[in-house]
Amino acid sequence: MTLPDSPQSPDRPVSTAKAGPPPAPERRRRTIAISGSASGIGAAVRERFERSGLKVVGVDRHDAEVIADLSTPDGRREAVTKTTELAGGHLDGVVACAGLGPHVRPFEAIPKVNYFGALAYLDGLLPALAGGEAPAAVAISSNGATLTPTNQAFVDLLLTDDEEASCAMAATLDGATVYGMSKLAMTIGLRRRAGTWAGKGVRLNAVAPGPVDTPLLAASLADKTLGPLVEALPVPVGRRATAGEIAGAVGFLLDPVNGFIHGSLLFVDGGSDALLRPDRV
Ligand code: NAD
Repeated sequence: MTLPDSPQSPDRPVSTAKAGPPPAPERRRRTIAISGSASGIGAAVRERFERSGLKVVGVDRHDAEVIADLSTPDGRREAVTKTTELAGGHLDGVVACAGLGPHVRPFEAIPKVNYFGALAYLDGLLPALAGGEAPAAVAISSNGATLTPTNQAFVDLLLTDDEEASCAMAATLDGATVYGMSKLAMTIGLRRRAGTWAGKGVRLNAVAPGPVDTPLLAASLADKTLGPLVEALPVPVGRRATAGEIAGAVGFLLDPVNGFIHGSLLFVDGGSDALLRPDRV
């Protein structure tokens, strides 16, 4: 006979648990997506977060979890879809680092990555960020955005998001202007998103580095026209940055303890912007 309360009752599940407290549910690892993760600043950001035990989903044209070209609409879609998949649908941070320097020809390639690619990557990953924990994103701008003489017509055109017309205009300008204005428009684009992103609980900020020792800077220095301009830029602290120093600023902006920093542009340029534009805040 089987007693109703006996451990052998077919109505009671047989416990296989060992004695002691139940195991804690497995915690999702904090996950960060980084574009341009294969080199320079992106690689330094990757190293910093991996050292802290975070999971990184990198996007680049080579040596990354997601191989995609952010200069094309198809590549941008691919980058967003695969990153979201690999992150399991939830991201806690996004860092838009991928970029081309002012030396890159044809010049119309520059806004494709630095403006259209960066914003499409950020916008595309917003739904995954909205499902993250204390989520935030950072884009790498440049002090070239403020120190390059402004070409307002080009900035305004970029901000209409007409890629074809913007690239046609870029082809008529010089590399420094195309680069600086692409970064300026991208930064304005971020600030314009401050309201909608906050509404989804996601912080969004930018870092404006000065010269940083990376392959991009080396290529700009090797350019006949740009090299002397880069060399002539006064940097009050008297040196270039390391990529790790920019990664430090990115880490600061992504850190949940800095939850009130939103819509800001942090200059990490050794004081050049302050020296050359002291009265512009
Ligand atoms: P880098 O050339 O070392 O790294 C850039 C990375 O972006 C590379 O791995 C490259 O493959 C990737 N990338 C470029 N085009 C891409 C595309 N179409 N699709 C996918 N990936 C692409 O350069 P960096 O100096 O580390 O630059 C990182 C960011 O910092 C850039 O946005 C750059 O404009 C900005 N920045 C650099 C400096 C500097 O002095 N190095 C200064 C200010 C701002």
